Amino acid sequence: MPRAARKSAAPARRRRRSPALVARAAEINARLTERYPQVTTALHYSSAWELLVATILSAQSTDEVVNQVTAELFQRYPTVQDIASAPREELERAIYRTGFFRNKAKSLQEAARYLLEHHNGEVPDRMEDLVKLPGVGRKTANVVLGSFFSRNDGVVVDTHVARLSRRLGLTRQTDPVKIEQDLMALLPPEEWTNFSHRLIWFGRQVCLAKDPRCDICELADLCPSAFKVGRWAKPAKPAAARARSRAKAPAGGEAGSEPRAASG
Ligand code: SF4
Repeated sequence: MPRAARKSAAPARRRRRSPALVARAAEINARLTERYPQVTTALHYSSAWELLVATILSAQSTDEVVNQVTAELFQRYPTVQDIASAPREELERAIYRTGFFRNKAKSLQEAARYLLEHHNGEVPDRMEDLVKLPGVGRKTANVVLGSFFSRNDGVVVDTHVARLSRRLGLTRQTDPVKIEQDLMALLPPEEWTNFSHRLIWFGRQVCLAKDPRCDICELADLCPSAFKVGRWAKPAKPAAARARSRAKAPAGGEAGSEPRAASG
């Protein structure tokens, strides 16, 4: 599939999932809702444009740093026009702390110019329009649609959502678009945005990448990765020991593989 087609806004294909997996996803969502009854993005914004800018800047950065940077950025460049016409090097310096500042400054200016040219400087509220903006993919579009326009067009798949979805056995995919399709097939549309926010908060506070707190996790009995990943993972056996155990193991086994609970 050509790269441009990956940015397509075509509705994700919704595959049928097994009732057991759908029920487990619902229970996971119910428990996360108890923990996080009110959720939203941690990014600060007062307009769709500001949320779009903050989301573009949040790639490979933390929300804390982005909020610090945007507080000054939006004072200095309050409008779409201001960002579009800012000297590039000045803009790069203003967002330097978020990392990848050259690419991000380019994306911000190209997105601003595109909005001025095609949408009168307004951020559109449709997925098919948003993903045409330079530097904007489905993840960024889903954040803006879900958090500003209250539209559940999809699931935000960032690094936390991708990691937790796999650990929880809700998907086996690694590609964000395919993970999003799997999650959309498991949850009712009205839960898509909030479910992503809940997973993001849970990924920051409990199911951390290297140090998942399975010992205090309220999802442990639903999670095929409980006590098997991060600091709980068994150290890999040396090659010679692996070869010996393979020779002894019955055919079909695969020692040390990641849990594979998604089905249906
Ligand atoms: S049981 Fe462990 S791996 Fe599973 S969701 Fe909880 S913290 Fe993450």
